[in-house]
Amino acid sequence: MDWAKTFQSLIWIEGIVQGVGFRPFVVRMARRHGICGTVQNAQGAVRISAFGPEEGLDAFISALEMEKPAPSHIARMGQTRRELAAGEEVPDSFRILPSLQEENRLVMPSPDLAVCDECLLEMADPSGPRYRNPFISCTHCGPRFSILKSIPYDRRNTSMADFPLCPLCQREYTNQDNRRFHAQTVCCNDCGPRLQWVDREGKTTQKALERAIDILASGGLVAVKGIGGYHLAADATREEAVMALREVKAREAKPFAVMFGDMSALLACCHAGEAEQALLLSPARPIVLLGKKPSAIAPQVCGPSPDIGAFLPYTPLQHLLLAHLPPLVMTSLNHSSLPIIARDEDALAFMEAHPQVVGSLVHDRPILHPQDDSVMLFIAGKPTFLRRGRGYVPQGIPVKDGNVLALGGQEKSVFTLTGQGYAYPSTELGDLDTVENVAQYCSTLSAMEDLLAFAPRLVAYDPHPGYATSRLARELPGPKLPVYHHHAHIASVMGEHGLMGPVIGVAFDGTGYGEDGTIWGGEFLIADRRSFRRDASLKPVWLLGGDASVRRASLTADCYRYDAGLAQDLDPLLVRVLELRVNAVASSSMGRLFDAVSAMLGICTTSTYGGQCAMELNYAAQTFAQEGRLAEPLPWELGAESQVDFAPCIRALHARLGQGESPFALAYAFHETVARMVLRVCLHLQEQTGIKTVCLSGGVFQNRLLTERVISLLEGEGFGVYRNQAVPPGDGGISFGQAVVALEAMKEGSFPCA
Ligand code: ZN
Ligand code: FE
Repeated sequence: MDWAKTFQSLIWIEGIVQGVGFRPFVVRMARRHGICGTVQNAQGAVRISAFGPEEGLDAFISALEMEKPAPSHIARMGQTRRELAAGEEVPDSFRILPSLQEENRLVMPSPDLAVCDECLLEMADPSGPRYRNPFISCTHCGPRFSILKSIPYDRRNTSMADFPLCPLCQREYTNQDNRRFHAQTVCCNDCGPRLQWVDREGKTTQKALERAIDILASGGLVAVKGIGGYHLAADATREEAVMALREVKAREAKPFAVMFGDMSALLACCHAGEAEQALLLSPARPIVLLGKKPSAIAPQVCGPSPDIGAFLPYTPLQHLLLAHLPPLVMTSLNHSSLPIIARDEDALAFMEAHPQVVGSLVHDRPILHPQDDSVMLFIAGKPTFLRRGRGYVPQGIPVKDGNVLALGGQEKSVFTLTGQGYAYPSTELGDLDTVENVAQYCSTLSAMEDLLAFAPRLVAYDPHPGYATSRLARELPGPKLPVYHHHAHIASVMGEHGLMGPVIGVAFDGTGYGEDGTIWGGEFLIADRRSFRRDASLKPVWLLGGDASVRRASLTADCYRYDAGLAQDLDPLLVRVLELRVNAVASSSMGRLFDAVSAMLGICTTSTYGGQCAMELNYAAQTFAQEGRLAEPLPWELGAESQVDFAPCIRALHARLGQGESPFALAYAFHETVARMVLRVCLHLQEQTGIKTVCLSGGVFQNRLLTERVISLLEGEGFGVYRNQAVPPGDGGISFGQAVVALEAMKEGSFPCA
């Protein structure tokens, strides 16, 4: 070796790098690039001391980034490098050092990982010890967070603690060269959890899987214990099975997700490009919204949606089931407005209450952190969260240092804890308007606080007086920081992309409490991380019934008609109520405008689930857009104080509908109008402020057609456009935004606690 040209790099890597086979990977890469040195787990990170020539080290480091094991996630990485002095000693090999004692340092726990290909091969081997084992796993795969009692991630701290290792598994667990070396979930057909079939006649461990397959094949409903909770499964190709599912769940119209046995079964029913396929196959295995092809999937699964929420099996048990069955609807086992069921006794109680559920495929490994499957869709080529849950939680998002608790909003509730430079958003915990969901929120909060052991020094919350979270904030000790709903939306984007502001924040959603006490939701904010100013918004319209009338889009439409001077077509009694503003609120919500237009066009007049009317308006527009036709925007006005008035648009829709124009064409024209409006208002604000950076957030930006059009118009005028990638643009992202604002406030020292 040429000593004068040998360097030492000290590399540290933070993220999900423990319990995912990272150290053996580092050893392989080091050997490939002729690097000597050591690797060890330390302080929640992986530390590498690497010796070699400059180019060798560069190649080694880039290989670490480029070829890292699929389940790992590098959140931060850094190195210091120095040239060795003559005569300095250099190690002659690369090896793993024992882990350094963790001192008050959090090891980021891994999210749950889909079963890997190697394990699937082994599961198919009739001569192996894990032939058809529904719990097969290794260092690279298997449940993680969902079975984690406490940190560090060690078998004794998981729900595998109750299953002693047999001699074979013990040997593999302790053998450095085995792929199950220190795999905390290791088990085989002689040890580990047991599968069981439970029906109305009782329990059995005999042919449990075969029974479930028979029932599903004949159109019955079966509860299946999964990773984050129970699924309720049904043959997706049988109308009567899907209808029974809707009845049991009291879920009228919201589309169901479909699990396909493998990629070729999926591609027979859905359009999926390379990026979509990679996401479907990633260790997180989210549900991905894909364009549907004509297929045998029953129409009741997705209703009018042109998409299917598709996903692939991620547990060995799901692989065993789907190998013999057509695609299955796999929906969470629960009543549609309640938390996912994760405890065996609750699943049995549900089954007893619903005779349509024939039986339950259960096992004796407890689920400690219930969570739903994640749901994503591609917008402008980038995966966007609709729901962030299994497979992603508890992955941390890099933020400023500091301990805060952000409580989130009311709908799609998520809280976020921060510490040691990361934000940890919880899984999505539903709308906090049922006792059960509030209870689930509180128990998840205390579980995450125990796990992460952060002591929050500031509590951030949404000041909406009616939110369960704002009441909870009042009860919690210590300083509190109210963060307005739409500022939180925009701050969530700034936090993700490291933007300090000021930016033009476009926050479009259904509802949020504004600074003036009215309902906001069509907002243009000039915002930094600490503060915001509302520089433009939709003109407020008086809506009847307040937040409670959100479902009745036909009533919302009447309010917009009245506002637009079309009172002559309305019920005189209603007009009188509107004149008196009985139980009315002023709302600048973009989501409500979408609802109103959907109802006016006769596309959807009542929402049976959140956002239904707006989504169906989107589907209608998409149908028209797919035919490659263009739409002329409808009229609207930018009035005094930068208030955007859509009354001219409502009048135009009314008139053109009366002339017999297609509601689909008008739905598309409405989307185009909103997109052009965003561009014009942003240009106007840029003129006034010089700001060329736009952040888009809020539930309306889950609408792919609108969002892609807005991005292309804004980028065409030279704006830098940022959106949510790490958290959902909807209210599931609110708490992360609140945390970003709170961390900034603490840094500024506005709080004596900090
Ligand atoms: Zn595996
Ligand atoms: Fe919102």
